[in-house]
Amino acid sequence: MRYSQLFAPTLREISAEVEMPSHRLLLRAGFIRQLSAGVYSFLPLGYKVLTRVANVVRDEMNRAGAQELLLPALHPQELWAESGREATMHDVLIGLKVRGGQFYLGPTHEEVITDLVRKNVRSYRELPLNLYQIQMKYRDEPRPRGGLVRAREFMMKDAYSFDRDEAGLDATYRQMYAAYVTIFQRCGLDVTPVEASGGAIGGKETKEFMLLSDAGEDSILLCPECGYAANREIADFRLVVAEPAEPPRKHVAVNTPDAHTVQQVCDFLHVAPERLVKTLICMADGQPVAALVRGDRELNEGRFRVLLGAARLELATPEQIQAATGGPIGFSGPVGLTIPMYADEELRGMVNFVAGANAADTHLVDVNWADVTAPLTWARLRFAEAGDVCPNCATPFTERRGIELGHIFKLRYAISEPLRATFTDEDGSEKLIIMGCYGIGVSRIISAVAEACHDENGLIWPMALAPYQVALLAMNMQDETQRTLAEGLYAALQAAGVDVLFDDRGERAGVKFKDADLIGIPLQLVVGKNAADGLVELRERRVKNPQLIAHDTVVATVRERIAAAE
Ligand SMILES: [Zn+2]
Repeated sequence: MRYSQLFAPTLREISAEVEMPSHRLLLRAGFIRQLSAGVYSFLPLGYKVLTRVANVVRDEMNRAGAQELLLPALHPQELWAESGREATMHDVLIGLKVRGGQFYLGPTHEEVITDLVRKNVRSYRELPLNLYQIQMKYRDEPRPRGGLVRAREFMMKDAYSFDRDEAGLDATYRQMYAAYVTIFQRCGLDVTPVEASGGAIGGKETKEFMLLSDAGEDSILLCPECGYAANREIADFRLVVAEPAEPPRKHVAVNTPDAHTVQQVCDFLHVAPERLVKTLICMADGQPVAALVRGDRELNEGRFRVLLGAARLELATPEQIQAATGGPIGFSGPVGLTIPMYADEELRGMVNFVAGANAADTHLVDVNWADVTAPLTWARLRFAEAGDVCPNCATPFTERRGIELGHIFKLRYAISEPLRATFTDEDGSEKLIIMGCYGIGVSRIISAVAEACHDENGLIWPMALAPYQVALLAMNMQDETQRTLAEGLYAALQAAGVDVLFDDRGERAGVKFKDADLIGIPLQLVVGKNAADGLVELRERRVKNPQLIAHDTVVATVRERIAAAE
């Protein structure tokens, strides 16, 4: 490709709202452009990288025995109602009217593929199957961010496996795990597999593949001793319940005017947040329930929803709180409450604590569990935090942020059961197909690589994903010797199958170096003053180690470097 013809508009001015370095660089270097919030165009450079990522993924999926197909993005509403996920994924579904009814734009494809399989697979002889596609997905993300990190339209590889039994699913899951490790290695990414939650999609045994990065939006707890790693949403920890430090006293009501938040109450009463029980009123499928956690802890709503078996869970409105507790928002507490109550198990050891009184401007001090008369369920409700200890070896966790790039999970019967996807087994009995699903954020990998591999001058692509393998820079196109040598090398490299971007523009040398560094092509071939002696300079973008080589050895040397880098 000749740079003079390349459509790669660079951006000089980038909004201060664009925070992540990868996002700024991809915009600046002309890889992507935003159409609207979370919706991006891939320009030729960006599309080349996207295609390369997709090909690495495709390669490893095929090698693992999966078969590629392509499913529609338009999903009939009835199918989502049938699986029950129209309710659980309601917030991200993008609906649209099409002649013939209501449709959703596919945010994921478990329903569509299971429908295909249930209509076409009859016998155990046709199993196992592992089917995948690489396709755009659509989600109504409330907060798109980081460019391609969290978008409303994004490219994903999604695979779905169909097995006869648990042992078959185990084997497929392990195969996918191994394929993912190889995919991320080939993309030049150092990725950490972590225990994860199945979220609204369900599933029990699941792993996320995380790029550790301060810019990530997931929080991960890592054990430095035994290697346990888990998403904060699901992280287990060994609970240390304190022994009661003092004998219980009799509780009394105190006036706490305008003290609504934990901080305000603690300031007013001069107690630490650890001495307060926070009572959160939630609506689970429309019914009020109370969740109790320590004042300084955060309720894990996802975990609470799963515990309740509810499709939807949200914090109650002030009106709902008034109706459920008899008091205003900010003053709820377990004493005298009659709705179902769930208390974090950590609270068991607390004595003489502070809680709301279910009355305006009033809290109770010296509350004890004996004061709570309605049935109470003890459960783990809060998030793990740095400072909590590893469930395996009791070492304190360290907390890191991460960008989720892949997710594998055992769906088991979460989709095949509601959709009645069955097969006839060897003994003639009809059984449900056991399923797994395996996603990779193909477009998100571009941002992840850009985030992990850049310097102050621009992007630094690994050879396997680079938009071009070599940037050929002619320092002075007016110089006959330089131009002739550069044109000759361009033709020779192309003939040898090397993907080369030839900067044939009439720009100054400084501009060409700057743009080559910004785009981040791994090898730079510079034709300058030494052209008269038949010499050119070969440099690596990553390390900048200029080396003079004879023009007739260029093709062989470049091919060696590419082979070594891939
Ligand atoms: Zn450990």
